Amino acid sequence: MKPDSPLLVVGSVALDSVETPFGKAENVLGGSGTFFSAAASLLTPVQLVGVVGSDYPMDQLSALAKRGVDLAGVEQAEGSSFRWRGRYRHDLNSAETIETHLGVFSHFSPKIPAQFKSAPFVFLANIDPRLQLDVLRQVNKPKLVACDTMNFWIESRRADLVELLKHVDLITVNDGEARQLTEKANLVRAAKWILERGPRYVIIKKGEHGAFMFTKESVFFAPAYPLESVFDPTGAGDSFAGGFMGHLARTGDISEANMRRAMIYGAALGSFAVEKFSIERLLEVKPADIAKRVAEFKQLVAFETEI
Ligand code: AMP
Repeated sequence: MKPDSPLLVVGSVALDSVETPFGKAENVLGGSGTFFSAAASLLTPVQLVGVVGSDYPMDQLSALAKRGVDLAGVEQAEGSSFRWRGRYRHDLNSAETIETHLGVFSHFSPKIPAQFKSAPFVFLANIDPRLQLDVLRQVNKPKLVACDTMNFWIESRRADLVELLKHVDLITVNDGEARQLTEKANLVRAAKWILERGPRYVIIKKGEHGAFMFTKESVFFAPAYPLESVFDPTGAGDSFAGGFMGHLARTGDISEANMRRAMIYGAALGSFAVEKFSIERLLEVKPADIAKRVAEFKQLVAFETEI
């Protein structure tokens, strides 16, 4: 596969209102597609598909366009934008959803522009699994399809989600979602349960405790970067996925060795995302910052055996 292959993402483009122990933000740029694109575009060109309402501050998305995110698939529909309101208390690993307002998202039917249909890398970010399945009907045999989800969809669209598993190569979930989806408390068993239903790779994220990547034959662990201050964890998972998929698309290599490297890019991008509200920090980061953080990860886990 060629390096710098197009990376297609379909996800939510939202207005988030977030409260953390360190401050509040109202109606800032958010959404799974937005965070993913902001992170992945630091590594490779991105094609974003999503929907916003007539109230969306489109000018703010231009920062993403400048960074190589093709917005041709972002539809502006009549009505109000998708809004998510969440809160984090002292445990910054779990968000408490206060309100999910679907708005134009409830009638959204993704239309993949013709020029996006042959992207070899596809990420179905956290949206309704029915829409994720609909996207797969429109694309031309991608080399790698990955998806994400969350408790909201595990509760309301379980059967569709289990159907989706048959059609993806990889899924990313956090530990709570893995337990909820599989009804297994043990994460190794949870990963096995998912692997038996379709994907070849299962990534289980554990917030500040890192992330595991399981296959039927192997387990790999990537730590989280030990940040001194986490400001707002919103979007960490989507930015992790953006770093992961961005690295794969940039290198065009889907060997397991490169997937392991991609886990570190994921962890690096996730760690930048949480340093400020919204996508603010991701917009400041330069390729050299990423290279530095990836090198620090190497140090973080390097050790020698006694023999
Ligand atoms: P993360 O913290 O990476 O899991 O994702 C946070 C983002 O997910 C926020 O910016 C929200 O706008 C978005 N989000 C929250 N709930 C949903 C949902 N039900 N469907 C799609 N996106 C959502």
